[in-house]
Amino acid sequence: MKVFEKAPAKINLSLDVLSKREDGYHDVEMIMTMVDLADRIEMQELPRDTIIISSQAGYIPLDEKNLAFQAAKLIKDYCGVKKGVYIHLDKKIPVAAGLAGGSSDAAATLRGLNRLWGLGLGTTELQKLGEKLGSDVPFCITGETAIARGRGEILEPIVNPIQCWVILAKPPINVSTAEVYGKLDASKIVSHPSTQRVADAIRYKQFDELCQGLGNVLEEVTLDLYPEVRHLKECMQRLGADGVLMSGSGPTVFGLVSKESKVARIYNGLRGFCKDVYAVRMLT
Ligand code: ATP
Repeated sequence: MKVFEKAPAKINLSLDVLSKREDGYHDVEMIMTMVDLADRIEMQELPRDTIIISSQAGYIPLDEKNLAFQAAKLIKDYCGVKKGVYIHLDKKIPVAAGLAGGSSDAAATLRGLNRLWGLGLGTTELQKLGEKLGSDVPFCITGETAIARGRGEILEPIVNPIQCWVILAKPPINVSTAEVYGKLDASKIVSHPSTQRVADAIRYKQFDELCQGLGNVLEEVTLDLYPEVRHLKECMQRLGADGVLMSGSGPTVFGLVSKESKVARIYNGLRGFCKDVYAVRMLT
C-alpha cells in the first residue's frame, strides 16, 4: 500500500510579534496562506517496524532530525502502530527559506499516515499532534488561509485571498529562524503591520489594499543582517510587483502580481541574479 501527499509552501501575508513569553517563544499574530509550490511525499507501508526516509535533495537530514521522520514516529507511537513506513520526499520547496517546507512535510506525513494506516484521526487531533513538532505544523495540516496567534498554533480560518500570481525569490543564503527571533526586541519594534487591515482586504477581495497592507516585523532584523534580502525586495518592487514582502524569517521574498502579462518580466529580471525564482499561483 502506498499513499501520496502534496506539501505546499506557506507565505506570511502579515507577521507581527506582540511580545516575548516566559517560555522563550514569542506571541505572534500572522496571516498565513499557501502557494502552489509543493514537495511531493510518497509513503509506503513496510512490514518491518521501522521508519526509512529518502530524498532527492542532498541537503536535508534523512534521520530522526527530519521533520517527516519525527511526524511518522509521533503518529505511530500515539496510535500504537506496529508497522513501518518508507517515506520519500521529493523536495521542491527551498530549505531554510521561510516557506515552512519542513513543517509542511511534517503535516503531510501526519495526513498521509492517517490514511495509509486507516487511523481515523480528525483534523483537530492531527493539528494537536502537529503542535508538538512545530508552531507552523497545525496550519499546514489544512493549509486554509488563517490568522495564527499564540506561538502560531491558534488558528482562525479566514477566506482565501483573491487569486493572483506569487513570485518567490530566495537569495543563496540560509537564515536561522531562531537567530532572527533571538535578535528581535519585541518591545522596540518600530512599525507593526495591521493584521485587521490585511484580513479585511482579503475578506473584501481588495487586491490593492492587500498589497499595501503587507507587513512583517522580522524584516527589521533580517534585512539588517542580510542586505541582499533588502536588495531583492527593492528589485522586485522596481520590476513592478504589486506588493512585496519577506516571508517568515526570510530570506525568501515574495511579490504579489495581479496581471499575468507582468509575470515573465519580473521572473526574468530576478533570474538575472538569483537562481531560486518561482512564479506560482496562490492556492485557493
Ligand atoms: P520555518 O519558516 O517554519 O522556520 P523554513 O522554511 O525557514 O521553516 P525549513 O525548510 O522547514 O525552514 O528547514 C528548517 C530546518 O529544518 C533546516 O535546517 C532543515 O535541515 C531541517 N529539516 C528537517 N526536516 C526537513 C524537511 N523535511 N524538509 C526541509 N528541511 C527539514
